[in-house]
This record gives sequence, structure tokens and C-alpha cells, in this order.
Amino acid sequence: MPGFELFGELERKEVNDVLDNGVLMRYGFDGMRKGHWKSKELEQELQNTFQSKYVQLVSSGTAAVTVALASAGVGAGDEVIMPTFTFVASFEAIMMLGAIPILVDIDDTLGLSPEAVEKAITPKTKAVMVVQMCGSMANMDALQAICNKHNLLLVEDACQAIGGNYKGKPLGSIGDLGCFSFDFVKTITCGEGGAVITNNKTYYTNADHYSDHGHDHVGNDRGAETHPFLGYNFRISELHAAVGLAQAKRLPEFLEIQKRNFNIIKEALADIPEVIFRTVPEGGEESCAFLNFFLPDLETATKVSQAFSEKGVDACWNYYNNSWHYIRKWDHLEDLKSLHPISTEVKKGLEYLQTESFEKSDHYIARNISCLIKLSWTEQEVKERAGKMVEVINSVLQTN
Ligand SMILES: *Cc1c(COP(=O)(O)O)cnc(C)c1O
Repeated sequence: MPGFELFGELERKEVNDVLDNGVLMRYGFDGMRKGHWKSKELEQELQNTFQSKYVQLVSSGTAAVTVALASAGVGAGDEVIMPTFTFVASFEAIMMLGAIPILVDIDDTLGLSPEAVEKAITPKTKAVMVVQMCGSMANMDALQAICNKHNLLLVEDACQAIGGNYKGKPLGSIGDLGCFSFDFVKTITCGEGGAVITNNKTYYTNADHYSDHGHDHVGNDRGAETHPFLGYNFRISELHAAVGLAQAKRLPEFLEIQKRNFNIIKEALADIPEVIFRTVPEGGEESCAFLNFFLPDLETATKVSQAFSEKGVDACWNYYNNSWHYIRKWDHLEDLKSLHPISTEVKKGLEYLQTESFEKSDHYIARNISCLIKLSWTEQEVKERAGKMVEVINSVLQTN
């Protein structure tokens, strides 16, 4: 997945354009910038990449989720349904807006279970936030149908799935709003950055203003702009956008390498009957940023991931005890350890975390191994790695 592995001449050229004119701000300074508008150019590039009418760059993927929800009016007391397997950013963004994250089970896609979503809907539910984890996707048709039936917003966090598709549509472009991250480890990276995509003009205009202090961006005199509503600073800088622009232009090259490496390993593991690959919904095409598979039980998965690291097969994880991505280690959320007061409504809204057990999610995450697919591996290296992985898995299975 990480685009930083292949930094080259193009990234340097784009950054130097910005340093040469000294304008690091994405808006204004028209006279000084010698025609360089890296953020605007990147937004146009991403409109094509993600087949979306509007793209608003922001300062991170977490900012993208926050701005996406805010631009559609999600706020205090609203419930947002999200999966138990994601990144901590998902509930952070929801809580930043005073809304209540409602965590529900995943299924064998490693994404939101449609049945679990339907069960969690209450009169307070405003949005469903699907997270396309590890390069693949949840069952989008079923989730879309639920959202249509209950008149809910569908927000897609596609931070880990840049380049994946569902029924011909890029992941991120299926819901009402899509969110991307270009942080240091993502497929397209610019250090810190993100994007909100949508086909809805009102949401886009809201995102544009909200991410820049509520400024309306009308006219040439920045100090005279009005504020239709309150906003904050979630802007990207021109330096970050310059790196992102180079990386976005190289995305097809990255995805081709990723796919090649993914397929070599997948084909090798397919010979082991105990290895079951994650379910990809019909019509779905993974981005190949990660290869995910299930082993018979937690014990086997734990042994395999340990043996992988001992044998030098790096970047493969079992997320059951992972503190970044899975609910079991989110004590700070469960115990509401906040530096500042949290509203009574949100506190009450999160009480379910004390009793809910999420056994279905445990069932899938306990048995799962998730392997990062790197871009810098040569074909020979991937083949050797695949051979080693098969050896390790077979030897663990034999000792069981
Ligand atoms: C990386 C990531 C984010 C947050 O992105 P940042 O740019 O690091 O803030 C959100 N959701 C998922 C699924 C991610 O992987």
C-alpha cells in the first residue's frame, strides 16, 4: 500500500514548484504563485480518479470524515452507525461533532454487517458510516438499500481502499460522501492530507467553507469574505498537495504493482485448504492493498502471525489484540477518558459499550490475518515471501 516506497522525480518537481514561488497557502496570493495551484490541480485529478463531481481536499483522513459528516449536517445527539473493526479515527470524528458512535458487528467481508446495521437503527440515527477496511468492501448494495429505506446518509471511509471498485464504481464514490486519507502509510501519500468526495453540490460547498473557517471563497479580497456559517481549519497546504499530486498521477502504476504482488501471494496460499480468504461481495474488486484470510481459530492465527515475524515475513497482523483497529482494546472509549467534559447525551449514548459483547466481530477478527502488500518488492522477492508463508502456515497447522 504505501506510496512513500516509490518517491521519485515527479514528487520532487511538484514540491520544488511550490518552494520556488513560496506560496504554501492553497487559497489567494494569485499574483505570487506563478500559476501553481497544486491543491486545485489535485482536486481535479481526483475527480477523474474517483469519478466524482466534487472533491474537497483537507488536512487528514480524520478531518475528511469530520468534514464529510458536518457538511451533511450531522451533529449533537445524532447517532452514527460504524463498524467495530476500523481505525480509531472513525469514532473520533463522530465525537468531535458531539454525535454518538454506535458500533456494530462486522461480517465475513470484514466490513459492516447489514443485519447488524438494521438492528441498530433508532429514531436518532442520522448516518451509516461504512469503512472499507484493508483494500476491500462491505456489502454495499445491502447497506445502500437499508439507508434508502430508512432515509439515512451513507458515508464511505475509503482511506484504506484507494483503487478498489464495486460494480464499476470506485470505492468512496458509492455513498453520499466518500472520505480518503493520504497520510504517511496510505496508497497515495502526501505526509498528512485527505479528501472528501461527493456528487452533491450543497455538501461540497459546505465542505469547502467548513474546512476553511466558514469563509465563503467569493471574490478576490479574502479579508472581505463573509461567513455563511461557523467553520474550522481543516485545510491542506500546497506542499502536501504537491506531493499528493505527483502520487495521484502515479496511482495506476502503484495499483498494477500492488495487484501483481497480491496475486502471487494469494495463489500460493490458495493451495492450503485451511486458509479461507475474506469474502469480497459480488461485483467487487479489491484494491489489493492488503491480503486478508481466515485460519481455523484464534490460537492458529496467533501462532501463524508470531511465526511469520520470527521467519522475517513482516507486516502481517492478527488484529484481535490490536489497539489501533479493533474495539477490544479501546478502553479509552469504553471508559470515556476525555480531557474535557463530554455531554450527558453522548455519555448516555455510549452506555451500551459496557454490556455489548460483539461476538460476531470476535469470530472473524480472531481468525483473521491481514498482510500489507508493499510496492517496493520485486517479483522474485514476492515469490520467495509467498513460499515462506506457505511453509510457516503448514508447519503451524501440523503441530496443532
Ligand atoms: C488512515 C485512516 C484514517 C485516518 O486518516 P488520517 O489521515 O491518518 O487522519 C481513517 N480511517 C481509516 C480506515 C484509515 O485507515
